[in-house]
Amino acid sequence: MKHKDFDVIVIGGGHAGVEAAQASWRMGAKTMMVTHKFDKIGEMSCNPAIGGLGKGHLVREIDALDGVMGRVADKSGIQFRLLNRRKGPAVQGPRTQADRALYRNAMQTEFKNSIDLDVIESEVTDFMMAGDTITGVVLSDGVKVKSATVILTTGTFLRGVIHIGDVSSPGGRMGDKPSIALAARIESIGLPLGRLKTGTPPRLDGRTINWSGLEMQAADAEPSLFSFLSDCAPVRQISCGITHTNSKTHDIIEKNLKKSAMYGGHIDGIGPRYCPSIEDKIVRFGEKDSHQIFLEPEGLNDPTIYPNGISTSLPVDVQEAYVTSIAGLENVKILQPGYAIEYDYVDPRALDSTLCLRSVNGLYLAGQINGTTGYEEAACQGLIAGINAHQLVKNKEPFILKRNEAYIGVLIDDLVNKGTKEPYRMFTSRAEFRILLRQDNADLRLMPKAKELGTITSEEYDKMLVKKNHVDEIKKVLKKKTVKPVDANPILKKYNTSILPQNYIIEKVLARPQITHKELLEIESIKTLFSGYSYEELEQAEIQLKYRSYIEAEKENVERLLKLENKKINSDFDYSTVKSLSLEAVDKLNKIKPKNIGQASRISGVSPADISVLIVHFGR
Ligand code: FAD
Repeated sequence: MKHKDFDVIVIGGGHAGVEAAQASWRMGAKTMMVTHKFDKIGEMSCNPAIGGLGKGHLVREIDALDGVMGRVADKSGIQFRLLNRRKGPAVQGPRTQADRALYRNAMQTEFKNSIDLDVIESEVTDFMMAGDTITGVVLSDGVKVKSATVILTTGTFLRGVIHIGDVSSPGGRMGDKPSIALAARIESIGLPLGRLKTGTPPRLDGRTINWSGLEMQAADAEPSLFSFLSDCAPVRQISCGITHTNSKTHDIIEKNLKKSAMYGGHIDGIGPRYCPSIEDKIVRFGEKDSHQIFLEPEGLNDPTIYPNGISTSLPVDVQEAYVTSIAGLENVKILQPGYAIEYDYVDPRALDSTLCLRSVNGLYLAGQINGTTGYEEAACQGLIAGINAHQLVKNKEPFILKRNEAYIGVLIDDLVNKGTKEPYRMFTSRAEFRILLRQDNADLRLMPKAKELGTITSEEYDKMLVKKNHVDEIKKVLKKKTVKPVDANPILKKYNTSILPQNYIIEKVLARPQITHKELLEIESIKTLFSGYSYEELEQAEIQLKYRSYIEAEKENVERLLKLENKKINSDFDYSTVKSLSLEAVDKLNKIKPKNIGQASRISGVSPADISVLIVHFGR
């Protein structure tokens, strides 16, 4: 290709890289992505699944800001499930098992259809700098490419080392070489580097699994899609199998712990606490004699099975021994062994809230390089870095989401203020305002911002406005109209809730715990009233009414926090006098003595729950 000057160069075509490149290009910046191999764009290095608890929220927010992950996942999803369906809407998380090849193809199609978004297959080995400002990159063949900004999204590739038992080899992930020269360059700029690790399980040949005795888990009848623009799951839905480890499995692992790369002293990096290896589970939860394993197909036309729950760095022969001790897997063939990977990451406290390095103008970092783990965590950072690189180049205001506006805001605020010592993943418990930040309302929360920013089209925005208006109409009708006992009582009896003695406002019927909009619609007169509205609109109206008091209380908390954020706290204040603060928070707060609640919230070890306690205390 003929090289020209760019506004934005994105290094890496993983989950962060694709969102970064797509975002800056969509907004009008002259963008180029450099990645090792085009046909690895959209590769899922570990499990072929998108979303889940907390992570599903991130995907919905990415989609509301017009990122690509949600719509690509919808095109390739083979088992959509809404997790925590029986719990409140704030903690429900959409997830899909994805067909690995379909996901990759759909993501690559996005790039093939992105006219003028340049993608080149190469390796970046060096940066070009003028003082403390980035000016471009140097490719492995020595070619220099100028750019006003650069976004670095190299994932697990920086000085990556793959471990299986006591055998170690350089690698960015299985089958890919690591990035060594660039890591050295990053070190020379003086960025604070650390070492982390993560692992993946062996892949199994599904044709050698005895499925007959195994429990199967089907997809939801009504798929919960990620994109606000999708209207159906186009791909056939499948079931996953479930099996369990047993005492024999645990014996084999325990006896061979020393041979594990993670336990044999071959790895220094810190691993993901919430995605532990099977070795970790056996050691940390010694009292448990069994762990659940989901057997997840990697694709509709692919016999490979991903056994979710047994990632490992034990030698191959030990992997074979423990895997075949598991019910259904007695004769299983391992297609690819499990392995651990250790890699460099940059302490994200070196970044500001736009994900730009504080010490190098125009150099942004996004994804696993910032100490996170997971495709969704990487993708949302890529999106924010891409948007902000565009904003910088075009002399526009930075785009920063606050903690009370989005999970993306929570993630970035945590990273750049608290840093992380272990691979960071998203949970709903990390957000102090999770009743406001639901996955179901990501479009209503974020599309107005996206419109202002120019990342979404008028068509997408108008679709959201129609939904918003419909939801308001439904709420009005629910509050105003009544239902007759003769129509309602047979249905109320069916769901074991008291019958109506007289006409009743529909909203009051809906307020009952046994009744959702689905049961209401079994009442013919109500079904007729709402026949013109979609499932999502009815569900949204229901959530807004049913949880109104919690939503209002949380909005008040946000307002109180915003007011209190800068309120001075006396330096001699004793936090042990505040009831309900965690011991860790009391300890940290008494040591650090923050000047205000805003500063307190950025102290590592002070949780969102602790901040809520402080808001109530100082707000009195
Ligand atoms: P990646 O997806 O790693 O992409 C990096 C990209 O950068 C690649 O396209 C690569 O080719 C490119 N690149 C690197 N260096 C250069 C260079 N110098 N020049 C040009 N291009 C370059 N996540 C979980 O949530 N749970 C898990 O259990 C889990 N286990 C994992 C196990 C393993 C073995 C691995 C490898 C990853 C695992 N992950 C897991 C993490 C998940 O894969 C990552 O979080 C996610 O892929 C990170 O996305 P990213 O865009 O930051 O980087």
